[in-house]
This record gives sequence, C-alpha cells and structure tokens, in this order.
Amino acid sequence: MSNFKQRTLIYFAAVSAGALLLSNLAAIKLWDLFGIAVDGGVVVFPLTYIIGDLIVEFYGRRIARNVILASFLVNVIAVAVFYIVIALPVYPGWELQSAYASVLGFTPRIICASLIAYLCSNFTNNYLFTRLRNGHSVFKNSFIARALGSSAFAHIIDSAIFETVAFLGVLPFSDFVAQAVFAYLLGIGFELILSPVEAWIAKKLRPRLCEYQNNNQFSFEITKRIPGKLGRAGIIHTPHGDIQTPAFMTVGTRGEVRYLSMKDLKSIQAQAMLSNGYHLRNISEEIADQGGLAKWSGWNGPTLTDSGGFQVMSLGSGCGKVVSMEKERNVTNAEKKDRLAHVSEDGVHFHDPFTDQDDFIGPKESMEIQCRIGADIHMAYDELTSLADSYEYNKEALARTERWARRSLQVHKKHCDDLGYHQALYGVLQGGRWEDLRRSTARKLAAMDFDGYGLGGAFLKESLGEILRWCCEELPEDKPRHLLGLSHPDDILIGTEMGADTFDCVAPTREARHGRIYTRHGNIAIKKFADSDELIEEGCDCPTCQAGWTRGQLRALLKSPDPKDREKYFNLASIHNLRFIIRLTEEARAAILDGTFDQYKENFLKDYYQKNA
Ligand SMILES: [Zn+2]
Repeated sequence: MSNFKQRTLIYFAAVSAGALLLSNLAAIKLWDLFGIAVDGGVVVFPLTYIIGDLIVEFYGRRIARNVILASFLVNVIAVAVFYIVIALPVYPGWELQSAYASVLGFTPRIICASLIAYLCSNFTNNYLFTRLRNGHSVFKNSFIARALGSSAFAHIIDSAIFETVAFLGVLPFSDFVAQAVFAYLLGIGFELILSPVEAWIAKKLRPRLCEYQNNNQFSFEITKRIPGKLGRAGIIHTPHGDIQTPAFMTVGTRGEVRYLSMKDLKSIQAQAMLSNGYHLRNISEEIADQGGLAKWSGWNGPTLTDSGGFQVMSLGSGCGKVVSMEKERNVTNAEKKDRLAHVSEDGVHFHDPFTDQDDFIGPKESMEIQCRIGADIHMAYDELTSLADSYEYNKEALARTERWARRSLQVHKKHCDDLGYHQALYGVLQGGRWEDLRRSTARKLAAMDFDGYGLGGAFLKESLGEILRWCCEELPEDKPRHLLGLSHPDDILIGTEMGADTFDCVAPTREARHGRIYTRHGNIAIKKFADSDELIEEGCDCPTCQAGWTRGQLRALLKSPDPKDREKYFNLASIHNLRFIIRLTEEARAAILDGTFDQYKENFLKDYYQKNA
C-alpha cells in the first residue's frame, strides 16, 4: 500500500518539476529572465497544490510539517546556488548557459516556495474553517461563507509566504510588491477553479488509492479455545490491519502515546491504539479531513475510540478514576450540586474543565464524533456507574444505557462508511456487581447488531473473573470482546481466561512515569536502585533492555534536574513497561495455541506476585 502511494507522489513530483523546468526554459528563450517567475508559477502552482494535497491526504500533517522544514532547507541551498551562479563572471558566448544555470538555481526556490505556501495555507484554512464553524451563527449556517472566509485569509498568508520565499532579494522591491498582488489574485483564481476539481478528483481517487485491508471489512475469527473455559485466541480483522488476540491496545488518548514515537510503538510490536472520543471531539472535523485517526495520527494501524462516556461521567460522579478496585469503602459520589455532569434521557450535560464551557454529549453526538475521528472500532455511548451507586440506581442507569445502545446503533449505521472505510461498533456492558443486571443486559445487547462488545464498569478486583464470566456466557461467541481500562498481569490473564480478547489501560505508562517498573518477579521501584548496574530485566526483549540500560542509569535520568533527561527516562521506562504487557498477551496467545494456558497463567502469576504475596 505505502509503495503505491510513494510511487504516486514521486510521479506527481517528477511531472511538476519537469513542467516547471520546461516552462522556465521556454520563458528564457521568449522573454527576459525574470518573466519566468510568473510563467513558472502558472505551471507550478496547480501541480504543487496537488502534491501538497497528496502529502496531507496520505501522510498526514506531521509528515507535512517535515516537508515544510525540508523545503525551507532546500530553499536556503537554492538561494546559495542562485547567488553563486549570478556572481560568476560571464564569458562572451556563455550568456545563455549562464541564464540556464541561474534558472537551475532558481527552480527549486519556486517549487519549495509553492509547496511551503500551499501547506501553510492548508493548515490555516483548516484551523480557520474549524474555528468559524464552531463560532458565529452566520458561519455556522453557511458553508459558502465559511469556505470563502477561511480560504481568502489562507491565500493572503499563502501569497505572503510564497512571494517572500521565492522572490525576496531576487526582484527589485517595487516589482516584488507588484508581483505579490498579482500572485495573490492568481492564487484566489486558482483556488476557485481548482477546489471543486480537486475535491472531485480526491473523492474519485481516494477509494482507489487507499487499499484498505481485509476487503475493507471488520470481522473476527477464533483460532483456538482454552479447553473448558470461555477464553480463546483469535484474529480481529479491521480495514487498517489485523489484531492477533489476546492483545493489549496502547492508549494514545489524544492520538499519540505520551513520550513515545510511532516508531517506538512499532518496535514494541504494539498492534492497535486506543484514543478517546472525548479528548479528540473538538478536532474531529480536522481528523476527518485527514482521512481518519490512523492516518492523522501517523499510526496507520488498527485503532479504537472510547465513547467519552467514561470521561464525562468521571467529571460527574466526582470519584475521579472510577476504577478504584481495591478500596470500595473509600469511593463516594460527589453531592449533586457539586457535580460537573448531569445525566438526562438524551445524554449528559457537563462543564468542560479544559474549555471552561458547558457542553453536551449524548449517544447521537458521541457516534457522530467517533465516526468523524474514524477509528476502526467505536464504543457505544453508555452511562458508567460508580462502586458507590446503589442497585436501584444501577438498574435505572442500565435501562438508559440500553436505550442509548439502540440509538448509538442507529446513528452509527448512518455514518460508519463516511470516511471510505468500514468502522465497527461495540456495545458496552455495564451492570455493576450484580449478576442479574449483568446477565440481563448482556442478553439484551447480544440481541442487537453490534460487531463486538466492550466490558465496562467498576470492578472489585476479587470479583473481576466472576463478572466477566456472567457477561461472556451470555454474549455471542463469534464476536470480539474488549475489557475496558484494566491491564495488571492478573487482570489480563483472568480476563483472557474468561473470554476477553483485547485490553487497554494507561497503567503501564503512568506507572513507568512514577518509577514503577514491571518485571517477571513483580514490580520494582526504580528509586531504590541508585548506582545499580543491574539490567532492568535480564532477558527482556524491549528496546530499552536490549540497548543495555541499567536500573542505576534509569534512576539517574529520573532524578535529573534536566527535563530532557526526565523525558528520556519517561520514554525508556514506558517502552519497557508497555512491551512487558504486550509480551504477556503474546505469551498468553502462544500458550492458548499450545494448549498450555492454565500452566502458563499459574507459573506467571506465581513468579509475578511472589513478592507482593
Ligand atoms: Zn525491557
């Protein structure tokens, strides 16, 4: 897939450069040397526009930013070449060669300037478009007003950048200004003519250029079961790739895992990334414009988004991170008047602490947001109850969650193919710690047309396995199940045994940042290892251990006053902990395939909890 994209880009770039060169050479023959600027621009503009679009379309904004930087660099070199060439003495009979040579120095400037200008205006345009859409009512209702408003402003920036990069120091100042005005008008003209054509081409090209995997479908196959148990090893097929289960999904709440690059994620064999609809909701339009979460984030693999229900509700119940597994008695709900979120039949009204504005998310809003973000797997909108809520309240909330599940399905069906690939929807099971509630809701959601199921809710650690068993016994066997927000080794092994296929949690990276490092023989506090030259873990296959980092070195980085050192620590420690959990799921999978899961689980837990026991 990526080879095909690269070939396309190179093809466009070659055509663009070739056309520019030819037009410039023709211009020298016919007109004077600096006339080429305009004529070259006429040819190069549309072509670099297309290249710019392709870069943003297929490689995302992060790459586009690098292209801008690289273009600036090429430009600086081109300026140097240009001035060297025109500074050289011209011998009689060499005038034409000299002109050719200076054009060769000049050509990269035009290409770079045009590309930089286009990408910058693309960014401005997107930013303004999003701002205007959320802002004034005139803009809210009129697509044309928004498009013209943002595009006009973007073109002012565009021509300013283009003129400065391409011509400053090359033309006399008055010509420079005249040309700037001309280029501005030219730019607007091109935009008006090209935009609809480009949009049409992009729409036609997108499905052909994006060769989604698995025939652009979502499906699940079971490879092997754990004899006599609910657990299994399988493969989830998504349009952005396969997930071999059981699997741990790394959490990139805002589309990136803190302190880790996408390359780091690949190096620890991460299979999928989970992001949050709540945190990304205000830039969901921008993500959609970029072709969805996988492309926008640069991850380019399978993705999942949470509905945002959890975040909204944790604002509400005031118990912070609701998964307070060990200490039920300490969990209390905030007084109603102090809560930041209020549940109604349609959804949740809440006060967003980030924007300091009142907001509302219901099942309809959540589905629209998630379909714009465009992960391969979405979660239906649910109401999360806390451990402090009563049976009666849970029953009421559950009935609401079931109504929201139906609404989520309806809205999702409308938008699940909007971005050109198929997006799947999981129903989310709540029901607290009550068997009758868990089983009845599992039966009801099982009868609905979901692609898989999220296992949610606040769990007491000792009842996790039991609750999962109730749910998974009722759920259809051929659909995948995701255990939301848990990842300690015992949670993963018990979850796997009881039929969960995928997991996610912020714990591995958060604990790493707090100095807690995972090893097969329990966790260690890195702070206690001053000057230790012991490896973090002998035999660990993570890039950190493979590079030979010792506990003492890691501790020194964590304790360093230099923020760069601490960042390095966060990166190295997060890599180790994430790889530890990912490897655990890989080993669990291998053990299921070998028929030795029970033995593997027992040995692993015995080693891991020996210290804690
Ligand atoms: Zn390691």
